[in-house]
Amino acid sequence: MNFGTPVENIPHVGPAYQKRLKKLKIRTLADFLYNFPREYKDFSKISKIKDIKINAENCIKGKIIEIKEEKSSFKRMSIVKALIEDESASIEVVWFNQPYLAKTLKADEEIMLSGKVNLNRYQVQMMSPSFEKISLKESIHIGRIIPVYTETKGITSKWIRYTLKPLIDNIKDKIPETLPEEIIRKYNLLTLSQAIEEIHFPQTIEMATNARRRFVFEQMFLISLLNIKKRKEFQKEKAPSIPINLEIIKRFTNSLPFKLTDGQKKSSWQILKDMERSFPMNRLLQGDVGSGKTVLAVLASINAVKAKKQVVLMAPTEILTKQHFKTFFNLLKSFNINIGLLTGKEDLYYSKKLKSDTIEISRKKLLEKTQKGEIDILIGTQALITQEKSKKENKVKFKDLGLIVIDEQHRFGVKQRATLSPKNDIPHLLSMTATPIPRTLTLTIWGDLDLSIIDKLPQGRKKIKTEVITNREKAYKLIEKEIEKGRQAFVICPRIESDEDDKLTIKAVTDEYEKISKDIFPNFRIEMLHGKMKTKEKDKIMRDFKNKKFDILVSTSVVEVGIDIPNATVMMIEGADRFGLAQLHQFRGRVGRGSNQSYCFLLTDSKSKTTIQRINAMVKYDSGFKLSEIDLKLRGPGDFSGVRQWGIPDFVMSSLNNMELIKETREAAENIIPFLNKHPILEKRLQSFEEKIHLE
Ligand code: ADP
Ligand code: MG
Repeated sequence: MNFGTPVENIPHVGPAYQKRLKKLKIRTLADFLYNFPREYKDFSKISKIKDIKINAENCIKGKIIEIKEEKSSFKRMSIVKALIEDESASIEVVWFNQPYLAKTLKADEEIMLSGKVNLNRYQVQMMSPSFEKISLKESIHIGRIIPVYTETKGITSKWIRYTLKPLIDNIKDKIPETLPEEIIRKYNLLTLSQAIEEIHFPQTIEMATNARRRFVFEQMFLISLLNIKKRKEFQKEKAPSIPINLEIIKRFTNSLPFKLTDGQKKSSWQILKDMERSFPMNRLLQGDVGSGKTVLAVLASINAVKAKKQVVLMAPTEILTKQHFKTFFNLLKSFNINIGLLTGKEDLYYSKKLKSDTIEISRKKLLEKTQKGEIDILIGTQALITQEKSKKENKVKFKDLGLIVIDEQHRFGVKQRATLSPKNDIPHLLSMTATPIPRTLTLTIWGDLDLSIIDKLPQGRKKIKTEVITNREKAYKLIEKEIEKGRQAFVICPRIESDEDDKLTIKAVTDEYEKISKDIFPNFRIEMLHGKMKTKEKDKIMRDFKNKKFDILVSTSVVEVGIDIPNATVMMIEGADRFGLAQLHQFRGRVGRGSNQSYCFLLTDSKSKTTIQRINAMVKYDSGFKLSEIDLKLRGPGDFSGVRQWGIPDFVMSSLNNMELIKETREAAENIIPFLNKHPILEKRLQSFEEKIHLE
């Protein structure tokens, strides 16, 4: 038997169980062993009933003397009460709202219970304890710590324990170690075989924790290895070395109507330094909405263009590409270069030629010019530029591409980069994001990317007034006032999570739109926006909003990505509790882009203290990084964009913010990389790991 052995070859696993296991995605022995307990019940320290401690967790073992259900008149609650006796004394045990217990448990049965003991008026009671019935056969469950697994129909924790115990006893001496010995020693880890035994059948809770640490360590170590390996591979690739043209950079920065912030200066220097090297830059520029990332993209671009290299800039939506195109030609008007904008379905193409205004050109011409090298900077959506299926004559080809800039995307693979370059080298990559990602996550997940951070907004920005609102009327009054002043407002509808996501979301946004346009603001001009609309429609609505053709935009979360509407001053978010803080922060960034005071209203019907506290962080903090750290702490990493798709096992997720562990695993990975070829097992694991994990 080895880790790949299918579950049907495991003793006690018949066809029925195979099916049920499949539902838990357990197909092989390895899957079975790596299906870790959700929690443990500690039955290891059994006290005599006469010795139990009040206001503390206790574990007792005894006989059920009697058990019955009582209907409490108070709130119609069901209470099951039992009297348990051991050789020393007896105690009353109560469970709330679990009426079935009165049937599952019977008088005269032997039972172990673990739970908190309270002094209730004059009576000592054990409150809602977890329990295990004891029969003579069940020695696995007695007097020790018992694993509790996620259960599915037909598979109980008990069954898993019964099947696993003999299995593990049988194979534990034959489990080959997957981590290098020196690492196990240095970081005080359990061996794989110990860890597998201890995670399922721990001797103490501490040992279970140690076992978990070993598994998490191993996963994070593999992630680090993968990152370092990719980084090394990058450094072997060739890229065009683009010298830093100080004269042009000075001219450019002097031409700006503002001074670069310290964060911008530092980041631009890191970018320019990277492009000077002869291996490809792989840099992520992170900065809050409005922190001024675009200017740095322009600066890097002009530096590349002056070295006779082409630049391509890709953004996720057409609206954004148009916005970038405008920014680029405005900032580069006096620099004598050509910029092309490749747009989508409307088949409209523009190019900025020298000092004249923008002109339309045909796609054919634009592509020709790009291929001839007459277009210095090409801007378009990622879909359009990397389109693999398009006809040959419609493919974008460059003459000499030196720099790729991607807005609001984190990664762009080496292979994809290579396909854009006509030469035998890989263009430099600058990706930009306003999605605030906690540092711990960037270190693990984007460990192969270099990171630049613009940590402060330019001076003089007005703080957006943020309020958590439970009274809608108040928010509507303010919106009315703002619109009467000539401003505009966003209303975001809550996120709806269900299988029918799209349908329900569209219904929600349609209902909201109806309500606002008919009942609340019949005199204002209102439009709506959702993800199921055609790109053309969406674009038109955003354009109209920007051109002040209507007052209120009711939308789903599709407005999230960087659209600039300086005249909008109100962001009202319905069901704010349904969004993560990082996302709320992104919404808030849609306003406050002009010189007027802006407002962000967070609406919630939630009465939960912790929820309101969480949303209140939005009032307290205006740094996206700070908010994302809080989000990570409170809600775990699952909410961060893409995290769910990475393929990282759940048990590792909760450790993604453990800085100590991140440091250790990175160090371990750094140390082993030069000797990787001496660890064939590790090499092989890394390979299969690379195929399984998709960090994006
Ligand atoms: P983002 O980082 O969200 O992409 P942008 O690049 O769109 O932000 O910049 C937002 C606005 O801030 C733009 O109008 C830009 O001209 C302006 N800006 C950028 N840098 C500075 C600065 N150092 N001082 C003042 N305004 C700046
Ligand atoms: Mg931007």
